[in-house]
Amino acid sequence: MDTAGEMAESLPRTSFPRRRESSGRHWIPVFTGMTEFARTISYGDYIVIDRQANPFFQRLSTGRPLLLDGATGTELQRRGVDTGLPLWSARALIEAPAVLQAIHADYLDAGADIITTNTFRTHRRTLERAGIGARTRELTQLAVQLAQVAAQSVDRKIFVAGSMSPLEDCYAPELVPPAGDLWIEHAEMARDLAQAGCDLLLVETMNTIREAVIAARCAAATGLPVCVSFVVGPAGLPPDQVNLTNAEETRSELKLLSGESIVAAVAALRSVNPAAILINCVPLAFIDRAFEELRAAHSGPIGLYANVGHADDQVGWTLTDDVLPAAYARQAQQWVQHGAAIVGGCCGTTPAHIAALRQIIL
Ligand SMILES: [Zn+2]
Repeated sequence: MDTAGEMAESLPRTSFPRRRESSGRHWIPVFTGMTEFARTISYGDYIVIDRQANPFFQRLSTGRPLLLDGATGTELQRRGVDTGLPLWSARALIEAPAVLQAIHADYLDAGADIITTNTFRTHRRTLERAGIGARTRELTQLAVQLAQVAAQSVDRKIFVAGSMSPLEDCYAPELVPPAGDLWIEHAEMARDLAQAGCDLLLVETMNTIREAVIAARCAAATGLPVCVSFVVGPAGLPPDQVNLTNAEETRSELKLLSGESIVAAVAALRSVNPAAILINCVPLAFIDRAFEELRAAHSGPIGLYANVGHADDQVGWTLTDDVLPAAYARQAQQWVQHGAAIVGGCCGTTPAHIAALRQIIL
């Protein structure tokens, strides 16, 4: 059984209405390909995922925190690879796959348990802007293969997480496309990642509930474990527009960049029942507060991966040495002590940050 489609064909289906999870079994909608996707969502076919038999759920249930890798896009940039927009990190799949491979290897050397595929910008719409839309599936699959080769080169269990990002700019909720586009494009990405062999899907840096829920449902339809992560800011301000020296501003209520609350985002994901809910790509200055709010809102596994530096319209990200690895790990230690199940690093973090985190996650 090597594809989501074959998996779907071989498992029993039920009819509408939707079945709910019970006793370790999770009922989710299934699709067997793009043409059937709309039909199956509409009519409610389901496959059974046995969480107790899935290696990622098994590992999560041990209670030992999982160490996620650090940034890929900014790490490519730091190593001299062209990450100009619109392709950003996707360009490395064509021009510098060896560098990408080395980054995965360095995160594994640092001790990561999960490595993330370089698929943040391999959506068809992004590749079309660069005139290479026809290579959508090929580049997504190549990204998964590079992560898998790295994962197989170490003698401990590594989980390959397929990254599913917002279709448009992570910090621009007003650009989130209409629902029809979200369904089609996230379904394509989820299918390609699953068929290439990811162990789980990581829906990340989501700035609206609307896109997060659709992407998560597409991800769940593959039958893989799904983690969902949001980017938040004080009063919904994008993290790069927050004046971190203004204490009052950083204390404002944290919201998704759409202005929606963390509580509402968690509630909206209940129908998907994700493996974990996380917050990512926010600075350390207010991520502790984000963690508290997420912890209060969600009783299931939660996680965090913060950024270091700030967003840039031209190159995507400006790197800084503001937060040294040891300081990052000291702050992350608090998250782990308070129950974080998954910690790692987002934009600007390096293998040194992950190595420092490994020291506090034993
Ligand atoms: Zn980030």
